[in-house]
Amino acid sequence: MSDGLPPSNLFYQTRLRRPQLARGAGVYLWDSAGKRYLDGSSGAMVSNIGHSNPAVLAAMRRQMELSTFGYRLHFENEPAEKLATRIAGRMPEGLDRVFFVSGGSEAVESCLKLARQYAIARGQAQRWKVISRFPSYHGSTLGALGVTGMSLMSAPFAPMLRESPKIPAPTCYLDRDALTLEQRGLRYARMLREEILAQGPETVLAFIMEPVGGASTGALVAPDSYYAEIRAICDEFGILLICDEVMSGAGRTGRYLASEHWNLRPDIVALSKGFGAGYAPLGAMVADGRIAEAVIDNGGFIHGHTYAGNPLACAAGLAVLEEIDRLDLITAAEQQGQALKARLEATMERFPFIGDVRGKGLLLAFELVAERATMEPLPVGLNAHLRLVDIAYDAGLIIYSRRTRGGRIGDHFLVCPPLIVSDDQI
Ligand code: PLP
Repeated sequence: MSDGLPPSNLFYQTRLRRPQLARGAGVYLWDSAGKRYLDGSSGAMVSNIGHSNPAVLAAMRRQMELSTFGYRLHFENEPAEKLATRIAGRMPEGLDRVFFVSGGSEAVESCLKLARQYAIARGQAQRWKVISRFPSYHGSTLGALGVTGMSLMSAPFAPMLRESPKIPAPTCYLDRDALTLEQRGLRYARMLREEILAQGPETVLAFIMEPVGGASTGALVAPDSYYAEIRAICDEFGILLICDEVMSGAGRTGRYLASEHWNLRPDIVALSKGFGAGYAPLGAMVADGRIAEAVIDNGGFIHGHTYAGNPLACAAGLAVLEEIDRLDLITAAEQQGQALKARLEATMERFPFIGDVRGKGLLLAFELVAERATMEPLPVGLNAHLRLVDIAYDAGLIIYSRRTRGGRIGDHFLVCPPLIVSDDQI
């Protein structure tokens, strides 16, 4: 190609050229020139159990010898059944129906569609609005993008999108008022109530949020008060709570689901990333049995993808979950997360341009600012979110960066190594 980029390269942001991946093992990746990188972000917060895990590779090989595809409307398959049982066994009481897909956006689309079909099944067809937060990220397909709060990603598609009503994400750390953090948490949660009333409660179907923020907000955690208040408001108006745990699930925050930190019980959950852990494209929607049953009784779920419940992907997912338990990686995420967070916080003393360090478990982030006292973001033109990543690349470290234009959050960097990361590697 004339610009020297491989034909497979079509980045949305810039003409980035990255090294060619040769192989991976544990927390490390090597490029085709032999250079080693510590995968400090598990790719896009995916490779939770590290690369080339022998038990997962063996399980995939075994399944490959048996079957790699059976269409879901023709056959059930054992890996999918076992994986669904295993996932359901770790969900809050009653969330026992698992619907497989191949990624996070598909999982979110499934949640939105199931919620809508549930409203119809209950005779509430006037409910269709899904409230979400700004900033937020729920995926890049048109439905998931409609609930995503990232203007840069949705702007070109505005005429094709049904933009959901948005309330501000609980960026309490940026507020300069006399309130305590817990009071701020309540204030942000009550914005949901105001939005429901403004929209007309009888038209609102669901509220979707990331319990711990991901790429859009850089591991944003709300004060404890926020979560119980959100649940209470959803219950007050009969609105479904969808937790997007695509990034925060599968143990990354030190709990199986991040919502467990607050005993928050979602009605529907979206999962992906850490469940396939980079071994296979895999995602799932897990729904409350009463929601699934109502939809099934009303004619069935009108949704699905060809590769859903793929036996090879499910065999990989099952082996990943077995490894997470065998290696006690959820405990590791909590413990190593505390150690890594303490090290990141210690850098704040040396570097006044680090404005905030946040997150839970090994879903951690730091934010760069012009001035910590005011939390004024760095100028956009500086492109710090790209430049620091390049500096890290040169040093053999991969981190994940974003700048949420239009929001109050500036350049932020996710530091999310695989949950197998050792003390030395931290
Ligand atoms: N939801 C969340 C919270 C995510 O972080 C992502 C991806 O980053 C998605 C949904 C979309 O997942 P995918 O890229 O697999 O479609």
